[in-house]
Amino acid sequence: MEETARTLRLEVITPDASVYCDDVEFVLVRALDGDLGVMHGHAPLIASLDIWPLTVTKEGAEKKIAVAKGFMEVNDNKVTIVTPAAELPEDIDVKRAEAAKHRAEDRLASKNEKIDHVRAELALKRAIQRLDVVKTFSGR
Ligand code: ATP
Repeated sequence: MEETARTLRLEVITPDASVYCDDVEFVLVRALDGDLGVMHGHAPLIASLDIWPLTVTKEGAEKKIAVAKGFMEVNDNKVTIVTPAAELPEDIDVKRAEAAKHRAEDRLASKNEKIDHVRAELALKRAIQRLDVVKTFSGR
């Protein structure tokens, strides 16, 4: 069928669950070396992902999924994302993300030498991403 022929199967997997699994038209991710868009017929590929929302287009509608690093494999019209953490907008706990953001900001502002700045930067990026995904896509 024409409709089926233009889609690809997207699966987003974390250590805890399969967060998303569906036939979609388009997947946009931020890889470590730039943005990557994947449609039906894309060549096989493996890419390392950044902390950045994945955009998925299904039946013309866009949805964002928070993705915190990991890998994407494209093969035979299947996109598999294996990541330490991924959340749909409706599953994001806003208060938790705000608390994580404040914690990371406090750590980054601290003069304490024992603070791991790289770790705090990554925590801040994850928290900002989660808040962004919620704001943009669930109207919360
Ligand atoms: P926190 O300090 O709040 O744990 P974090 O960025 O360190 O935030 P991660 O290590 O990225 O958290 O994720 C640990 C687990 O908790 C993952 O399963 C992730 O999906 C989940 N998680 C983290 N923050 C949130 C959130 N705000 N809402 C829903 N799930 C979350």
